[in-house]
Amino acid sequence: MVSVAGAQTALCRCRICGSSSIGDPIAAREMMFGTREAFTYWPCRDCGTLQIGEFPHDMTRYYPTRSYYSFGNTRRVSPLRRAVLRFIAARVIGRGIPASGSKGLATQLKGLGQPWIASVPGLRLDTAILDVGSGEGAELESLAMLGFTRLTGCDPYMPEARAGMTKWGVKLLRCQLAEVEGRFDLITMHHSLEHFTDPGGMLELARGKLAEGGRIMVSVPVMQAWCWERFGANWAQFDAPRHFYLFTHRALVGLAERGGLRCTAHGYNSLGWVLAWSEMYARDIPM
Ligand SMILES: [Zn+2]
Repeated sequence: MVSVAGAQTALCRCRICGSSSIGDPIAAREMMFGTREAFTYWPCRDCGTLQIGEFPHDMTRYYPTRSYYSFGNTRRVSPLRRAVLRFIAARVIGRGIPASGSKGLATQLKGLGQPWIASVPGLRLDTAILDVGSGEGAELESLAMLGFTRLTGCDPYMPEARAGMTKWGVKLLRCQLAEVEGRFDLITMHHSLEHFTDPGGMLELARGKLAEGGRIMVSVPVMQAWCWERFGANWAQFDAPRHFYLFTHRALVGLAERGGLRCTAHGYNSLGWVLAWSEMYARDIPM
């Protein structure tokens, strides 16, 4: 068990669904860098979202630019592999193949960690794509390797020297979403929505930057009963205090719908490292 020092102000209302039915507090520790500081989270009994009670005053200390995973992880892919990936991508992009249970060529894109790309109908290589919370643009560079040409990323925590055009032709902006100009056919949020204090506001902001018929692709860790029973607050995707919210599927869809969006497709993946690191955290070994 983990306890939090000092008095904690109880959360009165769920920030995601507005319900005032809040369960008992849960303490979770910072384990990525192993500071082991404890943070209080509150579960909503209605939508199931777990949310941090108080936002830390200075989050920059929890995103050290030299070691946080979305910085400094640009990928190296051989020319041969790139050619193979482009060949596969050309056959699945735009076809709207379901993200879950897809077979054949679409599954092969998983090698590059972008299986979702096959599930977006109408996507073209010249589709304007914005990645919110892009880090140094690793996700966008994966798309550039597949042949996409209009790629932009924004991240206020990006190291200053990284802003500008990458060698893959990805435009990186060191700023908040609100400061990004232009409209986009597809806005992606790869594991970034749960890091924002107001995810509903972020979705609305993103919606305002969509071109006619545009789409938003969100990937977040999703609360699941088995995972919670097995690991509790040691679940590596808990990631206190960087993850302000741990959504349920229902909570996320509800949030999007209240912001005027419609959920057209969803899928699940699970990553081996999450299970491995959850076991490590349970043994008090930080990442
Ligand atoms: Zn709720």
